Amino acid sequence: MSIFVSGATGFIAQNIVKQLLQANYKVVGSVRTQEKGDALKNNIKDASLQAENFTYEIVADIGAEGAFDDALKAHPELEVFIHTASPVKFDVKDVKKELIEPAINGTTNALKAIQQYGKNIKRVVVTSSLAAVAGSRTVLKDGESVTEQNWNPVTEEEIKDPSDGYAVSKKLAEEAVWKFAKDKSTHFSVTTILPGLVTGPQAFPNFDRDGLNFSSETINKLLKLKPNDEVPKGAGLFVDVRDCARAHIVAFEKESAVNKRLFAVAGKFNSQEVLDIIRSSFDELDQISPKGNPEDAKKYAPRSDRYDQSVTRSVLGFEFIDLKKSVVDTVNQLLDD
Ligand code: NAP
Repeated sequence: MSIFVSGATGFIAQNIVKQLLQANYKVVGSVRTQEKGDALKNNIKDASLQAENFTYEIVADIGAEGAFDDALKAHPELEVFIHTASPVKFDVKDVKKELIEPAINGTTNALKAIQQYGKNIKRVVVTSSLAAVAGSRTVLKDGESVTEQNWNPVTEEEIKDPSDGYAVSKKLAEEAVWKFAKDKSTHFSVTTILPGLVTGPQAFPNFDRDGLNFSSETINKLLKLKPNDEVPKGAGLFVDVRDCARAHIVAFEKESAVNKRLFAVAGKFNSQEVLDIIRSSFDELDQISPKGNPEDAKKYAPRSDRYDQSVTRSVLGFEFIDLKKSVVDTVNQLLDD
């Protein structure tokens, strides 16, 4: 079976590609340049995966009209489309142009191409985000939880910073997916994956340590702290990238995932907790990382941490990697030159 993965060189996508090849699927990835495509192909060869099962198509800008048309015309054999590509950056000046438009247009371009040229595509899996579900403006009453029915209430008009802009880009892109599936009589069914902060190792050992994706950099930043530095107050919900990738695969393999929004969340984390794991697991880092206040590990939590994951867990049916393993595997890879 042939699977398309958009944004194949991304952090999550490379883990998806790796797991798909390990499971003997054929993969067509979209990449922005030939150089990036060749680098990924070499990583696949070096990992002794079946490189002949991986090809790539160049889609330089997912937001350009008809971006995916040629790629899908070239591959009528495709049966599944996994759409991960979307801008994940916070150093933006123009939120609309740099985040919102590429996210929405990239998604609708993919769906239009699938509808027109991907006649054999039966399943579409789209990477959304927990940011599409809830955020700082979400108000929960006592005893209430966020469920797969919730949408982040933040609107385009209320955007105050790039973080709001990213949340809106993910929300509007995911809304466009469900609207497309409802309005058109599509020959494919849809599942969306809503990850928390994605931690864990890069899929392949050859990666750019100075150009890490946003979520991996959150752990890398803690490694760069000096003993007297203040511990940043970051807190949220996380999922290991290997589980996040696995969720994308289960999403097209299982019939019960059709029409579902699936939370990819393993649990809570805060930076004090992550530092405590690093210091206790790596002798060489114990003396050089700040101690902070280990009591804080229990104190500060994400703003909304009440998520009802019963639907997701029953569909996915696997145990999630815990914070300690995710952090230790990430740091081991970052320290390994
Ligand atoms: P990533 O490593 O930055 O991957 C994003 C991918 O999208 C890259 O391959 C990037 O290509 C591509 N891309 C971005 N804008 C593009 C454009 N205009 N045209 C063509 N390609 C474009 O980030 P990631 O963490 O793997 O994110 C993958 C997906 O997961 C995104 O949809 C993101 O919103 C979602 N997500 C991530 C997290 C997280 O914590 N990592 C959490 C929730 C949801 P280049 O690198 O070549 O620019």
